[in-house]
Amino acid sequence: MTQERRVALVTGASRGIGRAVAHELGRQDRIVIGTATSEAGAQKIDEDLKAHGIAGAGRCLNVTDQASVDALIKSINEEFGAPTILVNNAGITRDNLLMRMKEDEWDSVIDTNLKSVYRVSKACLRGMTKARFGRIVSISSVVATMGNLGQTNYAAAKAGMEGFTRALAREVASRAITVNSVAPGFIATDMTEALPEAQHEMLLKQIPLARLGAPEEIAAAVGFLTGETAGYVTGETLHVNGGMNM
Ligand code: NAD
Repeated sequence: MTQERRVALVTGASRGIGRAVAHELGRQDRIVIGTATSEAGAQKIDEDLKAHGIAGAGRCLNVTDQASVDALIKSINEEFGAPTILVNNAGITRDNLLMRMKEDEWDSVIDTNLKSVYRVSKACLRGMTKARFGRIVSISSVVATMGNLGQTNYAAAKAGMEGFTRALAREVASRAITVNSVAPGFIATDMTEALPEAQHEMLLKQIPLARLGAPEEIAAAVGFLTGETAGYVTGETLHVNGGMNM
């Protein structure tokens, strides 16, 4: 039987881990819809996918805006068919010690990194249920388990995401939809580029493999969990952190 060509949605695919995931899913012959926060970013993704010979498109999405999520899913359904693979990758940091953390820093991280997972996963579930196939993978963080100074907001959001993963996995298992998280350690992207040099040095000392990870190493884990052969793995968090937390 020939394998149906599945539609995969990757949020925040303009750079870093999301871009590497889009490429990996493309290599697995998925039709890839990658999102950016601006039209120009979406256009760039479009060109990047084409340059890599990947079918699909770049689209604009703000994961904190329900109307934007609904409009995107509607347009993907009409143009490509319902996404049955979803990678919740979009995320931000707004680090501050709790004593100094402003309500807006708390709220924006919880909204972008956690409530977004509720919004986008829910919007994709109908199509997955109908297809009786689904793969939802959310990008968590080692910080969900270990904690980190200045990241109460981020750690809370990522730990929440892992709890969401387990609860939804139980809800949708009977429809052959799997729900998992991937928890990266420190990966060389724009997000970690922003870390001060001293913190960077300190980090390396905590990583047995003594280097930051590459986005492609996270993408490989996502590729496994979204793959056809991973249908018996659900409610799991796959840690990819160079041994930082074991
Ligand atoms: P990045 O900053 O390079 O990319 C983040 C992506 O999210 C961008 O494409 C951005 O446009 C998108 N995004 C941000 N706000 C958005 C919004 N409101 N709506 C839609 N998209 C939005 O970061 P990255 O390092 O590639 O991180 C990707 C994911 O991996 C994030 O969830 C992050 O928390 C997680 N993560 C990263 C690391 C790391 O070390 N880089 C470690 C653990 C987890």
